[in-house]
Amino acid sequence: MKAILVVVGDEILLGQVVDTNASYLGQAFAAAGLELVSKWTVRDREDEMLEALKLGMAKADLVVFSGGLGPTSDDLTKPLLTQAMGGRLVRNLEVQKAIQAWFEARGREPGPMNLAQADLPDNCTLLHNPLGTAQGMLWLQHGVYVAALPGVPYEFKHLVDQELIPHLKTTGLLRPMVHHTLMVAGLVESSIARILKNWESQWRPEGIRLAYLPRPGLVRLRLSMYAHESKDGSGITLAGMQDRVQVAAQAIKGLLEGYVYGENELSLEECIGLILKDKGQKIFLAESCTGGALSARLVRVAGASEVVVGGLVAYSNELKVEELEVDRDLILKHGAVSTEVVGAMAQGAALRYHADYSVAISGIAGPSGGTVDKPVGSVCFGIHGPDGTLTYRRSLGEGRELVIERAVMTAMFLLWRVLIGQPVQDS
Ligand code: ATP
Ligand code: MG
Repeated sequence: MKAILVVVGDEILLGQVVDTNASYLGQAFAAAGLELVSKWTVRDREDEMLEALKLGMAKADLVVFSGGLGPTSDDLTKPLLTQAMGGRLVRNLEVQKAIQAWFEARGREPGPMNLAQADLPDNCTLLHNPLGTAQGMLWLQHGVYVAALPGVPYEFKHLVDQELIPHLKTTGLLRPMVHHTLMVAGLVESSIARILKNWESQWRPEGIRLAYLPRPGLVRLRLSMYAHESKDGSGITLAGMQDRVQVAAQAIKGLLEGYVYGENELSLEECIGLILKDKGQKIFLAESCTGGALSARLVRVAGASEVVVGGLVAYSNELKVEELEVDRDLILKHGAVSTEVVGAMAQGAALRYHADYSVAISGIAGPSGGTVDKPVGSVCFGIHGPDGTLTYRRSLGEGRELVIERAVMTAMFLLWRVLIGQPVQDS
């Protein structure tokens, strides 16, 4: 089933509200086997909304309107769609009662405008909204479904998940699709593409699609299979599709060994937390140029107290010497941004704060402070663990924020490799 989303609202085109409903619908539909093929944003204008409705109905099996269902004069969706679908608004006494109860529960009286929310089209299926007063609506005309959902994001989500998708499932028109995502760190998109080139051109199972979805410091590889796109689509079962996607995932994991740290949206910090928890071991973070960004990332994961001892922002050389027991002469000889110093920081941190593992980061985030030997973006990493201390030096480009973000991701990748017993060997 192909769907088009029409987001209604001047506020979205003016940039005052970020359209989160579209991204939510895209994900929810993809998971349910509905293909969102286009998204249009239109102003609160009758002619533009009607044009979108006509075009949408000509191109798709489902047109979803978001927003404009409220009781105010700028909310045009309900009367407009009701008329376009050949219905009329009739007071629904059951919904009116629910609205009265909704207001009573909040110690208020509904006004006439609120009660008018119970005026609903007489030719649609109502999509029940227990979170607000604007009901959702679903019409079927000439084989095309048209839905109207409230714009308020949590009401929109509720109606998508609890009303619209379950209803569409009963039509038997949804085509099964399967998605599986591999989380890859330590390799950029182009390197991954090079490694997977032959697999993509020669070994990829029939009907499997591969999408590269980069995020700072990692790439999500999404494997998808849509039943209708496969040669044997009409005959293949959901389990058959899941098997085929798994075969593809295993092949890619083999080709990218040491880089696929997890699956289905697992973050690197969650992955690290899980491994440390499993080992019953703890970590300390000693950060200079990242200023605590790595610590913040690791403690964002629920249950961090079981695996994180703490962190120290050792920005000045004094602190590196006093708190992390780095030899002052080492800093004088090699500079604070050096593999020697981060190694000493990591060792000192683990010893002083009784941690099984420690990570130390020191670098030049820029824009100033770079030299010929150590240009902006040079970042050194020290990882200390039960098997000793490893150090790395990386060039992470320019732009202070970017360098910090990349340093955090690089540190987590290097740490993950140490934790799984496959430390990255530096060239
Ligand atoms: P209401 O009863 O609140 O008027 P409504 O169905 O008429 O609901 P809108 O008036 O279009 O919906 O939007 C209500 C609020 O929901 C907007 O002020 C905006 O903050 C938010 N909103 C609307 N559309 C979106 C969207 N696509 N993404 C995120 N937020 C949205
Ligand atoms: Mg409104």
